[in-house]
Amino acid sequence: MFKRFHDTEKWNKPWYRKLLPVEKCAWDFITSMCDNVGVWIPDYETVEFFIGESVNWDNFLDKINGNIKVMDNGKWWIVDFCAFQYGVLSKNCKPHISYMKLLQSHGLDEFIPCEDFGVSNKAIRGKISDNTKSVIFNRDKGECQYCGKILDKTTARYDHFIPVAKGGTTEYSNLVLACTHCNSIKSDFTKDEFVARHPEYKESVQRVYDFIYTLLNNSYTSQDKDKDKDKDKDKDKEVVDGITITTFTKEQESILERNFK
Ligand SMILES: [Zn+2]
Repeated sequence: MFKRFHDTEKWNKPWYRKLLPVEKCAWDFITSMCDNVGVWIPDYETVEFFIGESVNWDNFLDKINGNIKVMDNGKWWIVDFCAFQYGVLSKNCKPHISYMKLLQSHGLDEFIPCEDFGVSNKAIRGKISDNTKSVIFNRDKGECQYCGKILDKTTARYDHFIPVAKGGTTEYSNLVLACTHCNSIKSDFTKDEFVARHPEYKESVQRVYDFIYTLLNNSYTSQDKDKDKDKDKDKDKEVVDGITITTFTKEQESILERNFK
């Protein structure tokens, strides 16, 4: 049995305080029973057997503040587990090599900052500023754009509609508000991949697509206008519904063309 660090600060974290006692037990169980890189194969019956009470797992995931990502294969991953237990992984440290191999076997190595994989990991590339979050939250009226759930700022997630891994940007025009559940299952899928796996989301995904497409079109229109006028430098930004949309670089344009054919 391995020894693990235990987060003594969790009692100061608002999301942890808001958990019901049974949910706190569930969190402790999962952080104890996951593998060495924080991956856990959901086994609800066993957790409930040991805790002695049933858990509302949908509520649990919503309240867990994005600390758990539901992977495509249904396994759960404690996102900060490696960073918390080991810091930055190094290939010069023997145990770290086994963790790196385990991460690779889960297909998770891109998410982890470690020497071996460089710093160009998804987590860093997709980082969203607080200011952007605030604008998106207001633009989307605090509602999950996929299921309509009303969110508060602590539970809101920000979905890269075109995944960062597939060239999506961290611009207003590629971000939509989502609840933890929808954000987890949307994961790194494109629109079509997501709908193929979750047909029940077909309508809402199309709605988001149309909305984003409008934002992008408006941005293109503003660029065209600028070319015609060719005078005011500040006109490379257009305000749509109170949101400033920056014009795109050639590289971004080709990514958008590929994703919006
Ligand atoms: Zn949702």
